[in-house]
Amino acid sequence: MNVRNPITGQSDRPLAPIPPDRLAAVAAGLRERAPAWQHADRGAVLARFGAALADDDALLSALVADTGRVGESLLERRLVAGLIDRWVRQAPALLAPPAERPASLPGVSVAGDVVPYELAGMITPWNLPLLLGLIDAVPALAAGCTVLVKPSEVTPRFIEPLMRLVPGDLPLRVVEGDGATGAALVDLVDTVVFTGSVTTGRQVAQAAARAFVPAFLELGGKDPAIVLAGADLGRAASAILWGGTANAGQSCQSIERVYVAREVHDEFLDRLVAEAGQVGLTCEGGPIGPIIKPGQEDLIAAHVADAVAKGATVHTGGRIERHGGGHWCRPTVLSGVDHGMLIMTEETFGPVLPVMAVSGPDEAVALANDSVYGLSAAVFAAGEEQARAVAARLQAGAVSINDAGLTALVHEGEKNSFRLSGLGGSRMGPASIGRFLRRRAFLVNRSDAADPWWHSTKE
Ligand code: NAD
Repeated sequence: MNVRNPITGQSDRPLAPIPPDRLAAVAAGLRERAPAWQHADRGAVLARFGAALADDDALLSALVADTGRVGESLLERRLVAGLIDRWVRQAPALLAPPAERPASLPGVSVAGDVVPYELAGMITPWNLPLLLGLIDAVPALAAGCTVLVKPSEVTPRFIEPLMRLVPGDLPLRVVEGDGATGAALVDLVDTVVFTGSVTTGRQVAQAAARAFVPAFLELGGKDPAIVLAGADLGRAASAILWGGTANAGQSCQSIERVYVAREVHDEFLDRLVAEAGQVGLTCEGGPIGPIIKPGQEDLIAAHVADAVAKGATVHTGGRIERHGGGHWCRPTVLSGVDHGMLIMTEETFGPVLPVMAVSGPDEAVALANDSVYGLSAAVFAAGEEQARAVAARLQAGAVSINDAGLTALVHEGEKNSFRLSGLGGSRMGPASIGRFLRRRAFLVNRSDAADPWWHSTKE
């Protein structure tokens, strides 16, 4: 199998999946390193990794080759450097044993410690290869786990330069492979975080259940944005445009549908269309990168075609373009859409913003919640109080208020994914390190006297 270059459209780089016996050997090697790692100065080692990665050009070039985008690859590398720095600073306090305290039973006290899994595994997608390759790996390493990562077969070029930056004393291995490699990984690790599609997530969860290891699933989304009367329409249009078209819409938390109060619908639509028309492709010096995964362009085109066939209007964009061999889609704005269209119900994963008029907050909430997904959402309203009240009615794990897509940049807020968007603990926020630890309690009785609940065997 060859890997497609999203800029040239050429499938010119052979994929070299690690053979199963080598993968097993890598896993065993990592596992052997777990005791030493758990006693190492992990913060210092991770900090060295972060410093090496922060301005490495070879890693950046490979990421650009994988994804076809430059500015967003720079941002991705910066986000990862920030992620490493944050965990280096936060982990020690989060791993500190809880203070001993008296138990409810007189004479007994409760203490504890944390026990990292020896080997944590991550299976990751192509849309943000570096960030999603490391977003869980770093807290797992900080927790004391050794880590095995299997990125997507669509974007493997960044793996080699990344591995050159991994310090010898950091037990992190990132391996090249396909779905079969991912499936094999599940049987080798003590816990697995999977980021990808719902279909594969179900398979990983079933395999993890058979292997009797926890599986944390981070899956797809169809994020809604709600714009109510009284909202700052200029701000809403700019934020939603970014939230739906950053990374060419190839992000789980992309805004993929917009519900706008009828009285401001036309003005909002005019602003969005005008702004969207000014945002160019990276091949023209603009910010919108190419379609990364082969076949994704057909899915985007099929969703737009389905909407048009059912009566939607395309105001700008809406076509797949070929430039220099790659596939591109300009920011696309549709109106006249409804939930009978694929564009409003299925993940499109492209820079497409369908806008639907609603009667007010109740209909906006009902339509936003009419989805199998529940990843995140955005709300723009007359004031924060109204926006928060609407946000609290949404079946979504994170809601950006007066902004859109903030979870792409802000990883501090604990959140769960609702519905089919995921399963397991929060990936975000300080407590997310807990996914890589077992908590052990020490229940101490310092009394010399017999406990009153013991069997009375002596006279
Ligand atoms: P995918 O499910 O096709 O692949 C994801 C990974 O799983 C790849 O590394 C693949 O090789 C591996 N894989 C395939 N079959 C496997 C199997 N049977 N066992 C184990 N591993 C297997 O997803 P994708 O197309 O790479 O990613 C796009 C999807 O990811 C979208 O749905 C997107 O919304 C979602 N996503 C979610 C988040 C999130 O944080 N919730 C973030 C980014 C992307």
